[in-house]
Amino acid sequence: MPELPEVEVLVRHLALRMRGRRIRRVTVRRARVVAPCTPEELSQKLRGATFQGLTRRAKYLLFAMRGRDGGAFTLLGHLGMTGRMYWLPAKQALPKHAAVILHCGPENFVFEDTRYFGRFTIDPGAIASLGPEPLGGKFTAEYFFKALKSSRQPIKVKLLDQQLVAGVGNIYASEALFRAGISPLTPARGLKRLQVVALRRAIRATLRVAIKRGSTLPLNFSGTGNGDGLFYYGSPPGESNFTTERLRVYDRAGKPCRKCRTAIERIVQAARSTFYCPQCQSQVFSRKSHGEIPSR
Ligand SMILES: [Zn+2]
Repeated sequence: MPELPEVEVLVRHLALRMRGRRIRRVTVRRARVVAPCTPEELSQKLRGATFQGLTRRAKYLLFAMRGRDGGAFTLLGHLGMTGRMYWLPAKQALPKHAAVILHCGPENFVFEDTRYFGRFTIDPGAIASLGPEPLGGKFTAEYFFKALKSSRQPIKVKLLDQQLVAGVGNIYASEALFRAGISPLTPARGLKRLQVVALRRAIRATLRVAIKRGSTLPLNFSGTGNGDGLFYYGSPPGESNFTTERLRVYDRAGKPCRKCRTAIERIVQAARSTFYCPQCQSQVFSRKSHGEIPSR
């Protein structure tokens, strides 16, 4: 599943290619992805509209649009589990799972989604209640500490709460906790101030490194070519894949920790996999004094 860094890399890639393009016609093949709008509403609004810019909020792509009547509005995109967004020459055949196609003359802008968990809509409701951006100025140590103080949930589970901080997903939550040396089982409110400071720093560093890395790789955004560690991208034909040395704990159960060689463990928390090093991320306080630590 694409997470914040992958979306950011895609946004940076697409932003240069969107501006000034005018939509002539819209085809919606999967009504589900434009909900709560209807395909007719989306088509009506987008026909004749021009792309003005592209930014990111959490894992959403925000396309700034100018309608044919001159009014500004936002088109929201979300890749869901398997979504891809890219330009395709109009003469090229559309992929089987093209969910929405924006016909823009010589090229089509395609939203492809094999499992249809993605979104492509003009309804802004989805981003209304999101918490601060992890890389933004509002995500301060003070805010983070206060927000965690009221939660009994294990920190790994709490990090996935999009109202706490928007856009940290399952992969980078495990990675950030490893980087900060904090057990995923620690109750959120049991973290000491210094640990919260370290975790905030680790979240930001983990995301920044992933964005930087993704921004420097040769990628094929239509996803054809070899699968690699970057989920919904593909490496261009002829390029090797990039999975090696990328993630430190995620999806590495049983493999040696890159720091201490202890076997990485996988546990399930709130129905999601968590990966961690039991040595590097051991509890820093006793279970006795913090009786809420859930058993494995
Ligand atoms: Zn370790």
